[in-house]
Amino acid sequence: MAQKLAAGNWKMNGTEASLAEIDAMIAAFPAPGCKVLICPPATLLDRLSTRAEGSAIATGAQDCHMNASGAHTGDISAEMIKDAGGTYVILGHSERRTDHGETDEIVNAKTMAATGAGLIAVVCVGETLEQRDAGETLDLVGTQLAGSIPEAVTGQNLVVAYEPVWAIGTGRIPTIEQIAEVHDFMRARLVERFGAEIGNAVSLLYGGSVKPSNASEIFAVANVDGALVGGASLKAADFGAIIDALQ
Ligand code: PGA
Repeated sequence: MAQKLAAGNWKMNGTEASLAEIDAMIAAFPAPGCKVLICPPATLLDRLSTRAEGSAIATGAQDCHMNASGAHTGDISAEMIKDAGGTYVILGHSERRTDHGETDEIVNAKTMAATGAGLIAVVCVGETLEQRDAGETLDLVGTQLAGSIPEAVTGQNLVVAYEPVWAIGTGRIPTIEQIAEVHDFMRARLVERFGAEIGNAVSLLYGGSVKPSNASEIFAVANVDGALVGGASLKAADFGAIIDALQ
């Protein structure tokens, strides 16, 4: 059985003042019935991890370089994320794929670097509205899964997030049937490729406009093991309600 995971992606939001949100979450969830993860911007990872030490809340980054160190101005490596107290890293988010030209091949190399350094990789896949309208969703998700995930992953160091690009930050979500279709498809593909033990242990998250008001119906879908939450993870009250719906 895959672990239930409520993951927050703060994106390019957060300063020192935001640390109060993590304090509130730690106080509200001393022993949550699911895994809770916050991925702040890199500038806050060290401080947030220190704050969360000894609590049930894990921390992670939003990207890493595929190399361990070297002349890569502006980048951070998986080792540095670990050094700052992070245990997870989000990879291949659609905003990285669009803004930074990240291909499946690049995401694959980053996933290797992350898992090799002992981090858990949260690999994101998902179609644009054009691709959905053209009936290409499953083909696209299948291609991204095959290309972005390296051979050497385990059920313990890989999480996959299905995030339809058109649902991110828009307030629109797919129908429950559409979410179920993609999640069943992803589970089947992972089992086919990695075998039942690994394939069934990978947590499959849905992401894109998850809110306290829609979390319960999304979490009731088979093969949805949690959520990757953007906007609604910034406030402890909203994210707390989503954690409540999952645990
Ligand atoms: P959103 O973002 O919850 O703000 O739609 C989700 C994501 O991009 O991870």
